Amino acid sequence: MTTPANTGSALWSAQAHMPSVLGRQLVIARGEGNYVFTTDGQRLFDGTAGLWHANIGHGREEMAEAAAQQMRTLETYHVFGRYLNDRAVELAEKVASLSPIADAKIILNSGGSDSIDVALKLARRYWQLQGRPEKTMILSRDLAYHGLHAYGTSVAGLDFNREGYGTDSLVPDTARFDTHDIEQVRRTVAEIGPHRIAAIIAEPVQGTGGVIPPAPGYLEGLQQIADEHDILLILDEVITGFGRTGHWFAAQRYGIRPHIIAMAKGISSGYSAVGGIIVAPEVWAPFYRTGAPIYRHGTTYSGHATSAALALKNIEIIEREGLLDRVLHLEGVLHAELDALAGDDRIEETRVAGLLGGIQLRPELSAERVTDAMVDEGWIARPLRGNVVQISPPFTTTDDELRGIVAATVSALDVVAADAK
Ligand code: PLP
Repeated sequence: MTTPANTGSALWSAQAHMPSVLGRQLVIARGEGNYVFTTDGQRLFDGTAGLWHANIGHGREEMAEAAAQQMRTLETYHVFGRYLNDRAVELAEKVASLSPIADAKIILNSGGSDSIDVALKLARRYWQLQGRPEKTMILSRDLAYHGLHAYGTSVAGLDFNREGYGTDSLVPDTARFDTHDIEQVRRTVAEIGPHRIAAIIAEPVQGTGGVIPPAPGYLEGLQQIADEHDILLILDEVITGFGRTGHWFAAQRYGIRPHIIAMAKGISSGYSAVGGIIVAPEVWAPFYRTGAPIYRHGTTYSGHATSAALALKNIEIIEREGLLDRVLHLEGVLHAELDALAGDDRIEETRVAGLLGGIQLRPELSAERVTDAMVDEGWIARPLRGNVVQISPPFTTTDDELRGIVAATVSALDVVAADAK
């Protein structure tokens, strides 16, 4: 085996196509508000809030202070067996109080992919406990992204994330259903047999799949199918949770009652690695009865105290600064800006839900080239599947910054279109 020359940093970005990024990676060294700065001093507007996570903006002194204070008191203590730590307890109470699920219990962990593992294993464990061992199938939407741990990889609706491991899915018993048409979902459920289905999982607004808001009636349809057939409904709110659609959870915006909600990212705005699931009483109650088994999905950092302290401070900032209302306001601005692009024949479609925007370009104009041109001018946007430019800045973005990034997208399109001629 030979080693290629010039392999760059020792850090392997496992979510990058290494041959094409080598020599042109951007190393971020500092963040301040809605901007980040590279090691060579370039100032970039963070038009994607990192990976849809930096909702309160970067570099907040108050967050640094909260971390330092918690670490001085107790960096963390585990939550196995009889042990808890007070910050994890407080965060669980807070999340339960904001949740659309009444009397919820919260399991905490370290991120979005973790949350998917813990949710999907719980769905199967629940049906075992209910004496329905045949209910093992997990159904997910085409174009879905649920992280890249083994279960998230297995339920991926973006085929390139699921393929290449030798079998259709790493974890057995998964299948996909249509992402727009609820009648097709009904047919898929009937073909598989509802008696075999443990859970349906869905992002309320698909993110990585290309910013796809739900078709009217679609989420309600999933809810109805789940209710009719004794199937658990799991909403993956890793992107949408904690305000990105202008509500604490998209379930509230769309009026849906899931059995489990997966969360991460916005719970701490990325100031700590924290995620978790919100669980409805019908699912947690069987594990609280005398004689019940342990669910068994703890990790060393489930309920990490410093992570929890940062999540609590982040939620306090969202409340204090009225950032949910701010998102609803920015949604209006984004809508107006993207609607104004309707006559541009280089653009196939624009989509908005909350502070999630997608600009789908004609196939001959590469979204990757457009976002590369944007970064040269100081604007971070991200190419998504389907030749879509993602716009999803922090909630603290000004109206002018939001208008600025849409204008920067159009200018970059001019450059790429001129090159394509
Ligand atoms: N679920 C959704 C909808 C996501 O967008 C992501 C990450 O982008 C994940 C799960 C995985 O989260 P993480 O990257 O924190 O593991």
